[in-house]
Amino acid sequence: MSFMKKIGVMGSTGSIGTQTLEIVRANPDMQVVALAAGSNVDLMEKQVREFKPSLCVMWKEEAAKELKMRLCDMQITVLSGMEGLLEMAVLPEMEYLVTAIVGMIGLRPTIAAIKAGKKIALANKETLVTAGHIIMPLAAECGVPILPVDSEHSAIYQSMNGENTKQIKKILLTASGGPFRGKKREELLNITVEDALKHPNWAMGQKITIDSATLVNKGLEVIEAKWLFGMEPENIQVIIHPQSIIHSMVEYVDGAVIAQLGTPDMKLPIQYALTYPDRRPLEGKKLDFYELASMTFEKPDTETFRGLSMAFEALKAGGSMPTVYNAANEKAVSLFLNRKIKFLEIYDLIQGAMENHKVIANPVVEEILAAEAEAYEYIDRIRRS
Ligand code: NAD
Ligand code: MG
Repeated sequence: MSFMKKIGVMGSTGSIGTQTLEIVRANPDMQVVALAAGSNVDLMEKQVREFKPSLCVMWKEEAAKELKMRLCDMQITVLSGMEGLLEMAVLPEMEYLVTAIVGMIGLRPTIAAIKAGKKIALANKETLVTAGHIIMPLAAECGVPILPVDSEHSAIYQSMNGENTKQIKKILLTASGGPFRGKKREELLNITVEDALKHPNWAMGQKITIDSATLVNKGLEVIEAKWLFGMEPENIQVIIHPQSIIHSMVEYVDGAVIAQLGTPDMKLPIQYALTYPDRRPLEGKKLDFYELASMTFEKPDTETFRGLSMAFEALKAGGSMPTVYNAANEKAVSLFLNRKIKFLEIYDLIQGAMENHKVIANPVVEEILAAEAEAYEYIDRIRRS
């Protein structure tokens, strides 16, 4: 019997992925058994040489070929594409899968991993946004925990410890407000990619950083919270808290509010997901309440930052609509990052794709993927005309 925690990391070269590997490095009873990434062969080679997993996946086939050549002195299986990710998801010796891929590409591997009984440390929020109605019941059926890595959801999870969840009144989801908090529509007309990539408190991957600037990230998190905690949208309240000290809160029926606070460091939620229900020491700056000048709170400006209001609309429409919201956003953000559209056009494309979509209630995976494809095609069509 081994007491090692055997971990697979999907998206190991990214922001969450590399921080997960820092946690593994600091915890001698954690071992990496599988790694997957998109195309960064240099970093993947380093990670494989350090952590010696038995399996590694590169999304791009050429990247997998190149990596295989570089690792010819090692005992390791190198796979590619969706086939590779699906094989990694069911790797027998793996106990935890950290889903740190960006985008709804993580959907099928996550479902496969749940079916194979893997504990899911979930960073990839797009999975729950598009398929929460499939993932949550499936996880319950398979007896698999979905351990939130998103800092807000980890905070909510921590604020529910030992409580009767039936006595929750509402979830108070905090948001920094992003780099453009307080700005009005006119001031956002000519936002550059560089402006939008400057997040005030968190260093993250590019896509989620843009999502934080549009408040789409908070919209995705509202939908994520609905599924993770079984909350109705009207019981999820978003609060702008620019200092990012309170990571989120839960209000109970008697009015008590329980919160989790800390410095903005994703390593805490990542480690907590992998050691839950235990806590372990963690290096890094801690809160100093003598130095903490103030904590402030505001109502979000949902007229300017339509990303949030559109998420509530998508939830209200239900079924396949959150997939369209998410997929249109993924495509729009990639167009913005490639300087093909303006910042505010991200909202227009999401709204257009949602208006164009006919909701399918309770979509199965194929219908979710079809709704994604439809949103992409809609955006291509709009941009050609
Ligand atoms: P990132 O862009 O830094 O990293 C993404 C990782 O996924 C990279 O390793 C990339 O190679 C890999 N990847 C991308 N496409 C792939 C594919 N098709 N196949 C295999 N690997 C692929 O992103 P990130 O900021 O680490 O975010 C990852 C996820 O975590 C997102 O869903 C994001 O919303 C969520 N999240 C991130 C943070 C954060 O602090 N960065 C916080 C909360 C939630
Ligand atoms: Mg978050």
